[in-house]
Amino acid sequence: MPGVKAYKFKLKTNPAFEQACVFTLDTCRELYNASLQERRDAYQINHVSLNYNSQSAQLPGIKALRPDVAAVYSQVLQDVLRRSQKAFDNFFRRVKAGQKPGYPRFKGKAFFDSFVYPQSGFRLEGDKLHLSKIGSCRVRLSRPIEGTIKTCTIKREADGWYVVFAVECNQSRFIPKTGKATGIDLGIECFAAVSNGERVENPKHYRAAESELKRAQRTVARRKNKRSNRRRKAINILARKHLHIKRQRADFHHKTALDVIRRYDHITIEDLNVCGMVRNHHLAKSISDAGWNQFARILTSKAANAGREVILVNPAYTSQDCSQCGSRVRKSLTVREHRCINCGFVAHRDHNAAINIQKRGQKRGARASGMGYEARVNREESPTIAGHPV
Ligand SMILES: [Zn+2]
Repeated sequence: MPGVKAYKFKLKTNPAFEQACVFTLDTCRELYNASLQERRDAYQINHVSLNYNSQSAQLPGIKALRPDVAAVYSQVLQDVLRRSQKAFDNFFRRVKAGQKPGYPRFKGKAFFDSFVYPQSGFRLEGDKLHLSKIGSCRVRLSRPIEGTIKTCTIKREADGWYVVFAVECNQSRFIPKTGKATGIDLGIECFAAVSNGERVENPKHYRAAESELKRAQRTVARRKNKRSNRRRKAINILARKHLHIKRQRADFHHKTALDVIRRYDHITIEDLNVCGMVRNHHLAKSISDAGWNQFARILTSKAANAGREVILVNPAYTSQDCSQCGSRVRKSLTVREHRCINCGFVAHRDHNAAINIQKRGQKRGARASGMGYEARVNREESPTIAGHPV
């Protein structure tokens, strides 16, 4: 199975190229918002749901009337409509699931920062990128591309413009089996606890970055004049700090995930999408802060490429139950040690949880065995614990 990998490079833009990109972004954003508006009106006035096909069929007509829209590569426009379709698909999927999602939003300038050549219209020659209807620009190719480029995304970030290539790599990157399994508890106090007792601490630079972020935030707050250049600059500095933290975090997640899949064949983590987990607001903040979802995503995709298995299990009571005898030892979040009154097992709370997670994963693995050894994600269909529905 060929995997798809993303390669991201910085662009060495020139003013003309940048201007054309800004123009494309603005046009795409306008189309996106118009598409949202049309869907909304169609539904409210005529009670019909529009879809991608009916909207993209209108593109030629719009282009005939609007030379600025016609100046954008047609597949780029189609991709915008596909994005709006996706937003509605997600919205209705969540409504169906009984959640209360927000209606797809109109996007302001700051919230629309990329456009996609989904198939053609772009060409990479050496380090020169040619984009249809935009122009050419040099790319800082920081690593060689292995495989076939499928799509090309142009992205605006606080510190410049980037290109992201989705590349299909043909050779499999399976690594030799180790015969080992593990469970990982993602935590608040430390980033992760492994079932063998190891702990992965949150990187120290997080703290330093946080105080820098606060300083930049205060500078923005001091610049009262909304239209001043000094305020704009301060906002850019703040955005760059955010970007820096985001990249540091992603880097940390990639390295941690790589280390885990090198050492284990079967990796069990908690299924963070189980409803109810995020209900607790305090915990929800911690979850988004720690970026667990991003880590889980990175781990799963790396595992798939390497022929490893990631098993997702229900997180309920993993930190309460004793991993050795199974009896439930109630403890609040502040109690950091698991001390079993039944069998006497003592361990750090997160370590105990990691063992529980691994055991649940093994149970899943035993049930799923016979499926053959391949990259797959196991998810518990009906989460129950010791026979009790949760
Ligand atoms: Zn016990």
